[in-house]
Amino acid sequence: MKLAVVGTGYVGLVTGVCLAKFGNDVVCVDTNTQKIEALSRGTVPFYEPGLEEIIRNNLEAGRLSFSTDLPSALDDALMCFITVGTPSLEDGSADLSAVRSVAETIGRSMKEYKLVVVKSTVPVSTCDFVRQAVAAELAKRREDIPFDVASNPEFLREGAAVRDFLEPDRVVVGVDCDRSADIMKELYSFLPPEKVIFMDIRSSEMTKYAANAMLATRISFMNEIAAVCERLGADVEKVRMGMGSDSRIGYAFLSAGCGFGGSCFPKDVRALKEFARKEGLEMQILQAVEEVNERQKHVLFGKLLRHFGCMKGKTIGIWGLSFKPKTSDVREAPAQALIADLAAAGAKVQAHDPKAMDETREALGDLQGVLYVNNQYDAVNGADALVLVTEWDIYKQPDFKKIRSLLASPVIFDGRNQYSPAEMKRQGFVYYSIGRGTA
Ligand code: NAD
Repeated sequence: MKLAVVGTGYVGLVTGVCLAKFGNDVVCVDTNTQKIEALSRGTVPFYEPGLEEIIRNNLEAGRLSFSTDLPSALDDALMCFITVGTPSLEDGSADLSAVRSVAETIGRSMKEYKLVVVKSTVPVSTCDFVRQAVAAELAKRREDIPFDVASNPEFLREGAAVRDFLEPDRVVVGVDCDRSADIMKELYSFLPPEKVIFMDIRSSEMTKYAANAMLATRISFMNEIAAVCERLGADVEKVRMGMGSDSRIGYAFLSAGCGFGGSCFPKDVRALKEFARKEGLEMQILQAVEEVNERQKHVLFGKLLRHFGCMKGKTIGIWGLSFKPKTSDVREAPAQALIADLAAAGAKVQAHDPKAMDETREALGDLQGVLYVNNQYDAVNGADALVLVTEWDIYKQPDFKKIRSLLASPVIFDGRNQYSPAEMKRQGFVYYSIGRGTA
């Protein structure tokens, strides 16, 4: 099939590239000229394991191309995927301006039947809005070209995006006619049919928000449990083992930590709350999920402050800046809240991340006293404490002897419960973690 994918970010790029891998002819479109030029050369603008290789293979095979010209990309395409960003507006609702702009361009330039597939995470009823936007542009042209709109929310996880796309738990498809259903079935014929769940469009749009809100809820729930464990001398890691082993609960998204970030959970929780609120429904659980998460992002700073009394003049080594391991994405990453707290308190920061240092520098601007270092041990050198924020593999079994010798005082704050309290004690560290007895 010939496909156009509009919005070449994490979702659009992975979607386009993986669909090309299955033999489709794909044009990935973006308004960002630099991005398109880099991608045409096979250079990926962000870190995602395995992606660069598939891009190069498909560029060479001639099945994949990159363009800034949506009308031309649409010419031959049967399907047009909308994968542009839907960031939060100030009131928390989803900004649909990029979705609208793409829908209008489709309506202005399409010459024959198209199936428009909305893959961006969008509030319930957005597919209707897309349909109206396309129809309005066609009406201006006095054209009556048929088209359909389908919903196909994306569930991939950054850091495992290619695998998630190729071997998903399931694919959700919202359709309102047989024609779109047949095209979507053909598109996903590389998957076992039972993995493709068809439903009406509004349920499909809602599924994405409900799933992300549930995962965010589990994290905030465990962070609250951790706070109680910490106060009463229980160990949240043991509690997690005991809970997760219950098949009704499971282990996924049950880890306490220093808060969730990323480009999806915070904004999707906000958007769901907001579009429910517009219907007169206050989502009280999600209100609490957000409040707990906001508090949790500052929990490490609180522990540092309690340990040191005053942060002015202290130097803190930070390991991990991306919002989770295996991605360079730093959107709403907990490390940024910590760095901002430390900078405001007059502390110096020596930060390290395997992939996300430039992105963090760009997100935070040039904050005084914040140094980005290329070696993880340089972050610790002369520092008063080490804080682990993102659990990249390279931080999991570090040389603790070296850390001890480099630190000015042997203190570790572990925001992801990666190290064993007993081992830390044996190695001579004062060790703080989340929800494991020591405050
Ligand atoms: P992103 O910010 O990485 O990429 C969006 C891209 O769209 C950018 O390259 C931008 O230049 C481009 N763009 C904006 N306006 C455009 C226009 N009018 N025409 C063409 N291109 C345009 O976003 P993302 O992380 O890929 O997310 C895209 C959507 O998918 C969002 O709705 C997000 O919530 C959802 N989603 C994201 C993830 C994830 O892990 N990142 C997972 C599932 C769903």
